[in-house]
Amino acid sequence: MVAVDLGGTRMKCGLVAADGAVVHRETRPTPREAGGRAVLDALLETVVELWQKATADGHRVRAIGVVVPGIIDADNGTVVAENLAWADLPVRDALVAAVGADVPIVLAHDVRGGGYAELRQGALTGTTNSLFLPLGTGIAAAMVVDGSLVSGDGYAGELGHTRFIHGDAAELCACGQWGCLETVASAAAIARRYAARTGRTVDGAREVLELLAAGDSDAAAVWEEALTVLVDALVLYTTLVAPTRIAIGGGLVGAGETLLQPLRDGVHARLTFQREPEIVAAVLGEEAGCLGAALMAWDRVTADEESGEQPA
Ligand SMILES: [Zn+2]
Repeated sequence: MVAVDLGGTRMKCGLVAADGAVVHRETRPTPREAGGRAVLDALLETVVELWQKATADGHRVRAIGVVVPGIIDADNGTVVAENLAWADLPVRDALVAAVGADVPIVLAHDVRGGGYAELRQGALTGTTNSLFLPLGTGIAAAMVVDGSLVSGDGYAGELGHTRFIHGDAAELCACGQWGCLETVASAAAIARRYAARTGRTVDGAREVLELLAAGDSDAAAVWEEALTVLVDALVLYTTLVAPTRIAIGGGLVGAGETLLQPLRDGVHARLTFQREPEIVAAVLGEEAGCLGAALMAWDRVTADEESGEQPA
């Protein structure tokens, strides 16, 4: 199985066996600054080279799994991904042409891929109603509802783009709306808001957390604002979908209990009749998306075999 995750700053890719074991892993640059065509070419080159490596190592490639940060039309194999400069790009056709073989190709959303990996062999194992919420450059959710990962025809899970800040405090979000969760509680937002408040440039949310630990009052204020909207978002999600477990991932979960315990306390204080979810750290880290891509592609192979269609 060739698996590639185009989310994040670098492409994460690998070869994954049927049991989920990663037999090869590497990262490669994603040439976003060179435009959408260059990103696609880099993806195609990566898939072809991983295929060649698999063959050289004595493996048979059964399918290809690719996860991307965008809206995927599963029927047509096209992708809209603003931060890859892809506008309805026929990614699946390009992959078929590049590998020159008829194997199943699974395209999925990077966060849903990560959520699926956490569900199958990570922090959400054994749940039927749960949430994977990575807090990174942006915020999106992988929602497990009654045992299924919800995709909403490619549109589901955009919890980062729900509004929790109103009035003059609302900032314009990259999505075009004002006051989104993501403008306050993503790792990128925490760094940006600290810099805006103090005039000091910081090296990401990690430095804000170091300042928080050192007693910096501006860092504490930015952090509190992020926690407040995250609690709002988790309470909303819990009220609507009743997860038994929420796994927080992405760069911010590096804060550990500094993040998780206030979220647990905040959610606990707000719930009245709702079922209270466990709030835990995701466990698969940066590998989750790539692993999820592979697991989804293996599922396709199994389904094709069971339906009697022989994959090439
Ligand atoms: Zn937004």
